[in-house]
Amino acid sequence: GIAFLDGQYLPMSQAKISVLDWGFLHSDATYDTVHVWDGRFFRLDLHLDRFFGGLEKLRMTIPFDRDGVAEILHSCVALSGHRAAYVEMLCTRGASPTFSRDPRQAINRFMAFAVPFGSVANADQLQRGLRVAISDKVRISPASIDPAIKNYHWLDLVRGLYDAYDRGAETALILDFNGNVAEGPGFNVFCVKDGKLSTPAIGVLPGITRRTVFDLCAEVGLTAIAADVSVAALRTADEVFITSTAGGIMPVTEIDGAPVADGKVGPITSRLMALYWEKHDDPAWS
Ligand code: PLP
Repeated sequence: GIAFLDGQYLPMSQAKISVLDWGFLHSDATYDTVHVWDGRFFRLDLHLDRFFGGLEKLRMTIPFDRDGVAEILHSCVALSGHRAAYVEMLCTRGASPTFSRDPRQAINRFMAFAVPFGSVANADQLQRGLRVAISDKVRISPASIDPAIKNYHWLDLVRGLYDAYDRGAETALILDFNGNVAEGPGFNVFCVKDGKLSTPAIGVLPGITRRTVFDLCAEVGLTAIAADVSVAALRTADEVFITSTAGGIMPVTEIDGAPVADGKVGPITSRLMALYWEKHDDPAWS
């Protein structure tokens, strides 16, 4: 992979930052990840919107505008030579030259990199559906951190993941502060009941793949809403799937050891998965 750091393009192994950077010390950072498929970015504008929105809320500034960042991302991909890439743009508060505790003294640091695309789910999992466990860990409250600021706060998600592994599952879903389903480590979740889709509304990252599912539903006339999703609703759903930039739309066929409906990937999930990848050939969605 190739990284962009301090105005230079470098092999990933040479891209290093100070341990005094507040991104590392305080998780004071925001980022976004976009994927490139067959040499083309997918929905880059939406990822740039979210990234620049996060920068503004965190009062960070970078020496590039949207076009400048887009150009850097394209260069990282071109230099890496990968046709399928996972591309990240990030900004940390940086380090203060005087070790000051005043964030205004820190020098914000922008970085980017492109590495080979590695899906969250492998081919076998995409075909049979993932085995998920619902952990009792609670996602950080939206009253503490605006979930629309894509952030690196994953202590809750990683603890949920260990709960899932302990119970023989492949990944985890964690709860929101009301005990409803929130999201998982790097993905949003949808359930389908009687042909209608729903996904948690609050306390979750507004994922671009989640948004893409809404766009696809609008195109084909399916109803999708953002609303509370209870644990019971998830367990009794006809279909469940998860969504992320790093995996697209991925079926879930087992929750806490019990099959979702008949335990097979459902027709709406399959249809949306196919549509999602078809859109990668449509320049309007690049
Ligand atoms: N939720 C969390 C916590 C994430 O970190 C991510 C992506 O990294 C998502 C959801 C999915 O968002 P997107 O579809 O934009 O990748």
